[in-house]
Amino acid sequence: RSGRSAALRARMEERLLGARFRYLNQQLYTGSSQDAARLFRDDPAAFQLYHRGFERQVRRWPERPVQRIVRYLRRRPASLVVADFGCGDCTLAASVRNQVHCFDLVPLSPRVTVCDMAKVPLAAESVDVAVFCLALMGTNLQEILGEANRVLRLGGTLMVAEVASRFEDTRAFLKAMTHLGFKTVSKDLSSSYFYLLEFAKTGPARPGPAPGLRLRPCLYKRR
Ligand code: SAH
Repeated sequence: RSGRSAALRARMEERLLGARFRYLNQQLYTGSSQDAARLFRDDPAAFQLYHRGFERQVRRWPERPVQRIVRYLRRRPASLVVADFGCGDCTLAASVRNQVHCFDLVPLSPRVTVCDMAKVPLAAESVDVAVFCLALMGTNLQEILGEANRVLRLGGTLMVAEVASRFEDTRAFLKAMTHLGFKTVSKDLSSSYFYLLEFAKTGPARPGPAPGLRLRPCLYKRR
């Protein structure tokens, strides 16, 4: 009997966690990066919960996007300096020999520099590779990608891994990226889970709005 009620209780707890995760997730995708920073600063426990939910989602996928980025970096010189925007648990930094600057809102690892990714404490043109792995969450995409442009040296690489269903018009998105000073080097749209996009910095971001720069929020269904 007590076994049954413990099981019931565990199931209720799971449900509640799932609901809170979906709510937090929705807030992250429908607000700006500054809103996200405020949310987690005011409620660090929410961050732990978000991450547990995130882990559970990604575990269902056939492959973790961050592993693709690890493989990519291992093929390139270890001397390249990397910035990981929205690094989560720093899997990337832990898996490559490169120097990796890790940025996130709350430190899941001591490697993390806590900051809003729209404003990272790096000098202009100081990194070779900027990474956003499932991390383009804020609605102020132009500001966030503008920050990546600022810290990248000319010709530097921008890697974006994002949930496939977030792209409503991939061509328009890539066109908007040229406005932000990035040309497409390669795109892997073959996975139904996530797209992997590689860009090179061609120059500074141009001022003015980049209309096609839109991603749908990634909302998870109740299971
Ligand atoms: N890149 C990691 C984690 C992805 S989850 C991986 O692939 O495993 C998305 C991460 O982006 C979360 O850790 C979240 O806290 C972070 N994030 C969201 N908005 C942010 C912001 N405004 N500034 C910094 N990090 C942010």
